[in-house]
Amino acid sequence: MTAIPVTIGRRMLHPAASADRGAPATAAPAVSMGAPLVDMHGRVHRDLRVSLTDRCSLRCTYCMPEQGNEWLARTSILTVDEIVRIARVAAADGITTFRLTGGEPLLRTDIVEVVRRLAAITGPDGAPVEVAMTTNGIRLPELLPALVDAGLHRLNISIDTLRRDRFHVLTRRDRLDDVRAGIAAAQASGLRPLKLNAVAMRNVNEDELVELVEFAIAHDAQMRFIEQMPLDAGHTWERSRMVTQEEILTALSARWTLTPVPGRGGAPAARWVLDGGPHAVGVIASVTAPFCGDCDRLRLTADGQLRNCLFSSTEYDLLPILRTGPSPGGEPVETGIDGMLRSCVHGKLPGHAINDPAFLQPARGMNAIGG
Ligand code: SAM
Ligand code: SF4
Repeated sequence: MTAIPVTIGRRMLHPAASADRGAPATAAPAVSMGAPLVDMHGRVHRDLRVSLTDRCSLRCTYCMPEQGNEWLARTSILTVDEIVRIARVAAADGITTFRLTGGEPLLRTDIVEVVRRLAAITGPDGAPVEVAMTTNGIRLPELLPALVDAGLHRLNISIDTLRRDRFHVLTRRDRLDDVRAGIAAAQASGLRPLKLNAVAMRNVNEDELVELVEFAIAHDAQMRFIEQMPLDAGHTWERSRMVTQEEILTALSARWTLTPVPGRGGAPAARWVLDGGPHAVGVIASVTAPFCGDCDRLRLTADGQLRNCLFSSTEYDLLPILRTGPSPGGEPVETGIDGMLRSCVHGKLPGHAINDPAFLQPARGMNAIGG
């Protein structure tokens, strides 16, 4: 039996927590555990983004407010045991990559244990899953040796500017040197491919795009530019301030000849080779060139909510399944997790609606969803 979620507002809850709160909504098809997570549009899901915390050491303007953020309740944050329990079911269902994110994932005091236990999970074919991380890099110099030893496979590090004053204004923290030290540690660690992320912003860093690519090349990394998305906790996003993929490519074309790389698959970044190679640059153009048709991603928030899209307003609540447990004679917790994964995949729309005039920004900021 699969779990039947129940809608409360836009949150889907397991019946264990909601028997008296509402009527059953969309039931996922009854498929036994271990079958791939295929949605109504034929997309097979292989990538689970796991947000470990909504807390952060920076306050990037496009992500978090300077102050007054409403933090997730500490009691609702998933423990490492709960994360691993969900991840084991997800891996049995065909998830092959876990990307740890946040908030800032390196703020979790048990981050090495999280990586070690996730990296020990294998899929139905016996192959180990891949554990990747997106981080602001600040704690990498102290933590990276232990993370690599624990089985971390890949790193994406965010750096939007190379200028200290700009970094301070943009992140509201004077920590550019710490981020640069984190990137140097990642370069020395040998983890490859190493990717650097920058949100391209009008009148902020749009004049630094070539410099950022050169910086990445010098660190044996690949630069990826992200179109700014309407996910800031302050709800201040304006389309007119967004630097588009087209503008990014125009700026880079002044320095390099760009040749598109075919065969993107489910990857969010489209890539271009620079001057015939070997270096390349990526652009994640969620707003002007959405790639929903090939999306293979699901998200798990730090407080146990499954999401099928960054921009969705519906969440599928795993906490009651994990914490209430099976009723006497009821289904095992793993069956409940599997059912909720299938409900979440089943409810996935063919595409996001950022470009629809009726689009409503999700209530959570990016730091509480997990980018
Ligand atoms: N703290 C880590 C970091 O910054 O890499 C991980 C979490 S952060 C939410 C993940 C990625 O989302 C970062 O590369 C960040 O630049 C990006 N991001 C955050 N808010 C965004 C927004 N409104 N539009 C586009 N990208 C955003
Ligand atoms: Fe923190 Fe990352 Fe958000 Fe910046 S983008 S505030 S580093 S979670």
